[in-house]
Amino acid sequence: MSETAGLHPQTIAVVAGRPPRVPDAPLNQPLTMASTYVAGGELEYGRYGNPTWQAFETALGALEGGHGLAYPSGLAAFGAVLELVPADAVVVAPRHAYLGSLGRLTQDGPRHGLTTRVVDVADTDAVIAAFDGADLALLESPTNPALEVADLPALCAAARARGVLLVVDNTFATPVVQQPLQLGADVVLHSATKFIAGHSDAMLGALVCADRVVWQRLEQRRRTTGVIPGPLECWLALRGLRTLHLRVERATANAAALAPRLAAHPACRRMRYPGFGAMIAVEFADAATADAFCAATRLWVTATSLGGVESTMERRRRWPGESPTIPEGLVRMAVGIEAVEDLWADLSAALNSL
Ligand code: PLP
Repeated sequence: MSETAGLHPQTIAVVAGRPPRVPDAPLNQPLTMASTYVAGGELEYGRYGNPTWQAFETALGALEGGHGLAYPSGLAAFGAVLELVPADAVVVAPRHAYLGSLGRLTQDGPRHGLTTRVVDVADTDAVIAAFDGADLALLESPTNPALEVADLPALCAAARARGVLLVVDNTFATPVVQQPLQLGADVVLHSATKFIAGHSDAMLGALVCADRVVWQRLEQRRRTTGVIPGPLECWLALRGLRTLHLRVERATANAAALAPRLAAHPACRRMRYPGFGAMIAVEFADAATADAFCAATRLWVTATSLGGVESTMERRRRWPGESPTIPEGLVRMAVGIEAVEDLWADLSAALNSL
């Protein structure tokens, strides 16, 4: 039985992946910078393993309820998942998935014969119909940046019944809010760059597998492709993971308080708030109004990443690769852990300046 069995998630985030409790052992996993190890053990070489990777993987695995593997970025983790299916696979993906993941499928995929079926994740029947004959499905819930929510229990059951390998990108929700492996998904994907690491200072990706055999295939493949994480990034992400629940609970409470206030402002045409998590999106009449709003804040930073302690936002269509079905005036907002009234004072001043 695992050492964290029966513990609450908040406790697991704190205790999982610690060094053995023996006299003079450090409480925290040290940062191991090593390209090679004394022969005869399990690690042998820096491309094959690292104790700091393992500590992070153990902790995230325990939180998601599976077997963890770290990668140099979220997109690298997605690339590793794609290797689980044939190069000419049929893949189902959300039309509003993270643009990098979609780009990987729709730009690189066809060269290898891969077909992508793009779906609206909120339309459960349409997603299930697209599962027929598919090899792999990537789901995001909520999606980035439209914040659509998928019926994960129904879709996990449908994917399983059809033998479709189901990968859920849990970057936005985090294991604090939902644990897709418990609902029947095969693999959870994280851009650990975001909420998991939580301080906007590290690039890291992760997969968590329900099945040990899938984990072994990925782990073996990671050794040979050399798509390996940095020990420092794993150390930072593990440090961040210790406070994941505190951060997400606070950011989530801030988002719940801010969403209705934003929605009530006349400049706001539409508010997208899934009812959970720290990601919200507000739609303005046009790109110019959205840009003026972003430029007018003093506390909120315009920045493309999310999931840090600080509140960030951006107009998504400023990226040429963003889906044309995302409105020009949509500003995606990643709510941080600051005092909510300071965040609101900043937002309302920016809104009133429009
Ligand atoms: N998945 C989601 C939902 C993301 O938002 C991102 C990045 O923004 C990624 C995956 C890719 O992760 P990374 O930037 O760490 O490669």
